[in-house]
Amino acid sequence: MGSTGSLYLFILIFVYGLLIGSFLNVCIYRIPLGKTIVRGRSYCPNCHSLIPWYLNIPVFSYLFLKGRCKNCHTQISIIYPAVELLNAVLYLLIYGIYGFTLQALVLAVLFSVLIIIALIDLKYQIIPDSLVTIIFISGVLYTILMTISGAQLWYIGLIGLFSASLPLYLLGLVYEGGIGGGDIKLMAAAGLLAGWKLILLSLFLGAIYASFLALFMVIFRKATFKTALPFGPFLAAGIVTAILFGQSMLNAYMDFYQYIL
Ligand SMILES: [Zn+2]
Repeated sequence: MGSTGSLYLFILIFVYGLLIGSFLNVCIYRIPLGKTIVRGRSYCPNCHSLIPWYLNIPVFSYLFLKGRCKNCHTQISIIYPAVELLNAVLYLLIYGIYGFTLQALVLAVLFSVLIIIALIDLKYQIIPDSLVTIIFISGVLYTILMTISGAQLWYIGLIGLFSASLPLYLLGLVYEGGIGGGDIKLMAAAGLLAGWKLILLSLFLGAIYASFLALFMVIFRKATFKTALPFGPFLAAGIVTAILFGQSMLNAYMDFYQYIL
């Protein structure tokens, strides 16, 4: 394919990512309230005025309206365009690494669901079972397809189901009230998809991210060591990093040891 062709494709994937990102915002807002995500137009959460389609264009409408509702001028959260941009960038990264494959499609679903989970957990400290179920079903389909095509051994995902969730569960027994059931279920479902190595790396990275932020918040007096942070957003970030860059990280690590030994 020519470079012009691939540029168009990049733009197309980016725009598609923004549009799905816009739908993710609807999910983040409506799922915790128990509202339907398939019907109903978007409206301003403050004045409830309907948002016309031409002011509901991802990112651009936000910039055009300078982050305020056209009707009541209430400030619109920067989270909305941030979610859209993040989803679009993640889709581009998936495409860059995995191309147009079934694997890429499953990962796009996983990453988008992880964005919803991270933001709902951040706001409400819950991880809805329905979202974890989507990841689990994707994991089952993925494992079956990868096994049939001979790309992966069948037990890689099966071990992944337990390799991060079980240590997390055991940690939860010792460290009371620290680890939610949602976190454990998330790591089980994502482990089926990512395989046992990458899900362990996800857990490790998630813990590092959480520690860094906690330390940062204590230093800048935004929190004390007793402040409870939801773990879900960090786990989600860990899973995304591990799936995108984990294999290169593990290879570099192995090379390093081969070099010094
Ligand atoms: Zn409004």
